Amino acid sequence: MRVITIANQKGGVGKTTTAINLATALAAVGKRVLLVDLDPQGNASTGLGIEKDDREVSSYDLLTERASVEEAAIPTAVPELSLIPSTLDLLGLEMEISSADRRAYRLRDALREHEKREARFDFVLMDCPPSLNLLTINAMAAADSVLVPLQCEFFALEGLSQLLQTVEEVRDSLNPELDLHGIVLTMFDGRNNLAAQVVRDVRAYMGESVYQTVIPRNVRVSEAPSFGKPAILYDMKCPGSQAYIALASEVIQREKRLAAA
Ligand code: ADP
Ligand code: MG
Repeated sequence: MRVITIANQKGGVGKTTTAINLATALAAVGKRVLLVDLDPQGNASTGLGIEKDDREVSSYDLLTERASVEEAAIPTAVPELSLIPSTLDLLGLEMEISSADRRAYRLRDALREHEKREARFDFVLMDCPPSLNLLTINAMAAADSVLVPLQCEFFALEGLSQLLQTVEEVRDSLNPELDLHGIVLTMFDGRNNLAAQVVRDVRAYMGESVYQTVIPRNVRVSEAPSFGKPAILYDMKCPGSQAYIALASEVIQREKRLAAA
């Protein structure tokens, strides 16, 4: 089981879109995937067609030790893709467990317990909120690696050093095994010269960490969540879906290397 946390403290950079579509693309090639929605907004849950009323057991229950991974994971319309949905309860979590022992290890403990009982998943992806709060720290403490979506815009690199520093701190204190999985550039608009410059700058600055695959800005990708479907189910042929399928094969290759190292 490989655990990948999708994080960036900026909102609107494509975390949730990447989480849903990467999870779907991995499932489509036969990987057993669990997506954990850690954002109180629940966009990943909605985007996978799980209505609020169907979120009886949620990531909040997992983090407060009220439910196990098996109890919280529900099937989605995508074969081989399960989801632990989120609810607004997550907003109170930080206060609730702020003085608890092992509060940063709630997710890691839950996943390890799950792995001991049964190995149901090949990949676990975590969709983080736009913040470096206890939820994101939990996701990093539980992860093998962190995948960072960066939007192809002028301020793309702003905030990246803070994020990388947080990864470093988690590695020093909570999870020495944590790798930077890579950076995926999102919402690329080929008609915009600035976007191409951003791609060059990010590659120059971050080198090999940046995935070859760049996700294009694509209206089909932004429409899909309102139908409760991953873009890959909504319109598999659109350029955005094709890019996420290409990203999935890069992720599988990179995970093999990281797991072997
Ligand atoms: P985050 O989870 O980082 O806040 P989202 O994945 O929710 O970001 O994306 C922010 C907005 O941008 C959403 O409305 C989403 O539909 C849209 N979006 C994301 N990726 C693309 C894309 N490749 N093409 C077009 N719209 C996109
Ligand atoms: Mg999101």
